Amino acid sequence: MRIYLDNHATTPCDPRVVRAMLPYFTEKCGNAASKDHIFGKEAEQAVEAARRQIAALLKADEGEIVFTSGATESDNLAIKGVLEAYGSKGRHIVTVATEHKAVLETCKALEEAGRAQVTVLPVDSTGLIDPDRLAAAITEQTVLVSVMFANNEIGTIQPIAEIGRLCAQRNVFFHSDAAQAAGRIPIDVEAMNLHLVSLSGHKMYGPKGVGALYVRKRHPRVKLRPMIDGGGHERGLRSGTLPVPLVVGFGLAAEIAAKEMSEEARRILSLRERLRRGLFESLDGLTLNGHPERRLPGNLHVSFACVEADSLMTELGEIAVSSGAACASATLQPSHVLRAIGVSEVLAHDSIRFGVGRFNTRDEIDVTLDRTVRVVRRLRERSPLYGRMTEHV
Ligand SMILES: *Cc1c(COP(=O)(O)O)cnc(C)c1O
Repeated sequence: MRIYLDNHATTPCDPRVVRAMLPYFTEKCGNAASKDHIFGKEAEQAVEAARRQIAALLKADEGEIVFTSGATESDNLAIKGVLEAYGSKGRHIVTVATEHKAVLETCKALEEAGRAQVTVLPVDSTGLIDPDRLAAAITEQTVLVSVMFANNEIGTIQPIAEIGRLCAQRNVFFHSDAAQAAGRIPIDVEAMNLHLVSLSGHKMYGPKGVGALYVRKRHPRVKLRPMIDGGGHERGLRSGTLPVPLVVGFGLAAEIAAKEMSEEARRILSLRERLRRGLFESLDGLTLNGHPERRLPGNLHVSFACVEADSLMTELGEIAVSSGAACASATLQPSHVLRAIGVSEVLAHDSIRFGVGRFNTRDEIDVTLDRTVRVVRRLRERSPLYGRMTEHV
């Protein structure tokens, strides 16, 4: 029995999404930019419908959605685009230690090229930033604040509306990487004063290889310097032929998410809580990483003292979860997110992320719970460290 519990890394494509995409690979083969024949017009209409579906998910206007290849590209376009367009006004960026590498490395590249100064804010032990600290970090030179909506490792949800108010008062642009939040929790670009928002299709049951950047058009209008030059697609912000089937799938994924979000969040939360309660009731020496309440419904990030994540994952076999060091596992560095919330290096290597999603069942949760408890107990039996730890309790 294969069980997929890694829905933060990627989500399976919803079968309804696959069905909607299929005709656009074959009979509906037009290029959305070929507006002089019916194939092109049909593709263009499908793209514009998808744009409306994605805009609706964010309470945005359809003219504010730019299609990209994914959230990595959207983050790059938002940050580099603002810095290159407004560099004469100031070159200071404020971001956060727990951001995705697509944000942190983009900021670092700009800084190393001498094109930006970057302030990286710390977070508390639950992964939250302190808005007062953010306010204090904003200077006359600040042009952009970039704070992710919800964290991809520990699930912590930042106080986005509060940060948005702050940025509006101080007259700086506010970008949020919402790859994990979109489709899972409500986003309202007006109420939250967001200027730029990055999205990814494959994090919300759409296809891989497509994403979007919300770019505010009014109050204020955000100008961006494009990264890709060419035929001037997407209002000149992102040249290149649109992947019409992927765009269509992404659009439907957004519509489904908008419609089913609240009910789905309840269901996923109850599955996650079933798993969390079961683990914490059956095992000692566990720590929940991230915020106890302000977290994504499907996210459960746990450190199992004296159990190496690698061994645990090997023993879990066909149950797919992620190790705490997921992002940096090739280098064996503990994740920058766990370090930022103060998890020790040893415990970081004992940490597992469970990501519950749309297609998980109660049976799968129960099998996972049972297997995890048994494996952890077995691995600890062999652990001298665990023996010493429990002796003293
Ligand atoms: C997955 C993810 C990304 C990267 O998205 P891609 O579409 O795979 O490029 C960026 N930020 C966050 C928070 C993510 O979870």
